[in-house]
Amino acid sequence: MFKLKNYINGELVNPISNQYIDNYDPSRGTVYSHIPDSDERDAEQAIQAAKAAFSSWSITPKENRSKYLLKIASLIEEQLDELALAESIDNGKPLHLAKTVDIPRAAANFHFYGTGILHYAAHSHSMEDTAINYTLRQPVGVAGCISPWNLPLYLFSWKIAPALAAGCTVVAKPSEVTPMTAYLLSEICIKAGLPKGVLNIVHGLGPKIGNSIVGSKDVPLISFTGGTKTGAHIASVAAPMFKKLSLELGGKNPNIIFADCDYDKMLSTTMLSSFANQGQICLCGSRIFIEKSIYEKFKADFVAKTEALVVGAPLDEKTKIGAVVSKPHMEKILSYVELAKQEGGKVLCGGKEVKVGGEFNNGYYIAPTIIENLSYDCRTNQEEIFGPVVTIMPFEKEEEVLMYANSTQYGLASTVWTQDITKANRVAMNLHTGIVWINCWLLRDLRTPFGGVKSSGVGREGGFEALDFFTEPKNVCVKLK
Ligand code: NAD
Repeated sequence: MFKLKNYINGELVNPISNQYIDNYDPSRGTVYSHIPDSDERDAEQAIQAAKAAFSSWSITPKENRSKYLLKIASLIEEQLDELALAESIDNGKPLHLAKTVDIPRAAANFHFYGTGILHYAAHSHSMEDTAINYTLRQPVGVAGCISPWNLPLYLFSWKIAPALAAGCTVVAKPSEVTPMTAYLLSEICIKAGLPKGVLNIVHGLGPKIGNSIVGSKDVPLISFTGGTKTGAHIASVAAPMFKKLSLELGGKNPNIIFADCDYDKMLSTTMLSSFANQGQICLCGSRIFIEKSIYEKFKADFVAKTEALVVGAPLDEKTKIGAVVSKPHMEKILSYVELAKQEGGKVLCGGKEVKVGGEFNNGYYIAPTIIENLSYDCRTNQEEIFGPVVTIMPFEKEEEVLMYANSTQYGLASTVWTQDITKANRVAMNLHTGIVWINCWLLRDLRTPFGGVKSSGVGREGGFEALDFFTEPKNVCVKLK
């Protein structure tokens, strides 16, 4: 069976322990490859390789750094089919989604930062004829980048690309649940001729290898995307060491639908914002609030469309809902459906495992699920489920729905549907989330700051904010006389 390797100091290597972890294909429920079970010794090798490479990479002209990133972007584009297939098998997501969203966006991340760094400028401040100040932006050092399983290559590249563009070297750890595209990226970096040690990719378990990266005195910066509980642990290790820290964490995003919305557009986009990627996108709207006058109509239409979604094998073109990422995750999602029932929820559709038959019969499939009749503050409506499960609830007044929407510990993203421009902007202003979509969902302009508030994270990714994060400002004050 195929064994993945770590990418350390420009080479593909086995873990020092020679121990491996099973890698599952969730669409079949079978092991299909093995991942290095790396430990602190592998982490240390990777960190020392990155540290050694920093002295030359940090002063490599940005035009040259840009060329490497653009080369990686074009190789990802050339290998789109192979990468999309790998991601679909690793993650269980429909192949067409990997082909049209995940992999093109990964290439776009390298392209964006490969060109963005060429236009990144620092400031100067004149004190008339007394002095001038200028701010040098210097790369921080070895960046530790840790990412989750839901959009594996896309989120991995969203950290690595700005770090490399800024002149940092990187030790990166993909999720052990979906390691394959990160492995293929290491092959791509070798093809692109990326100098040794500039990017190192170490596979393995979070509490083992992730912890070694976070706790290393030679890694002054951590960029983490994942669950809120893991983020809190990472902060507890990194904060006393005064590391630069960016945390992109969980969400429980509200989708607010006013009666005056463009109904058809709202309905088709709400299908996506609820169930795309089996609801395993941190930005999915999992709590849907509908103005009372259209609640019954919305409920009937939404349930009918949801029941028509094809749940099936990821490689089948008809499939809209693939497998969820793992057995434990499927069990977690279904336990929330049981909790919802105990809390008085009425399951309108879905709510159970689906057996899709044939060679995929042991895969992890869940019917897309809609639940109503829950209070805004019950656990089902407060805790992140991260699967194809949404709740619907009517509201009458704007203040009331804002209270519901803002009632969770999370504050990642929200969606507002109305044709009233004043109301849309007023509601956006009063939502406690880092991102608000008005009459759309998941539209991304890579220049905009991305991230959440409250327990959804600290710091921002995206745009020049990410280049600011991976560089340290140093003010130089020059007296003129
Ligand atoms: P997770 O927190 O379990 O794991 C994320 C990564 O952290 C993995 O690589 C894991 O191996 C590593 N890790 C685990 N324990 C660690 C430790 N002690 N030290 C260092 N690293 C450790 O999250 P997940 O289950 O992979 O991903 C799902 C979560 O990610 C959801 O909560 C989702 O909302 C969140 N997410 C957030 C965003 C965002 O941009 N805000 C984007 C995608 C996913």
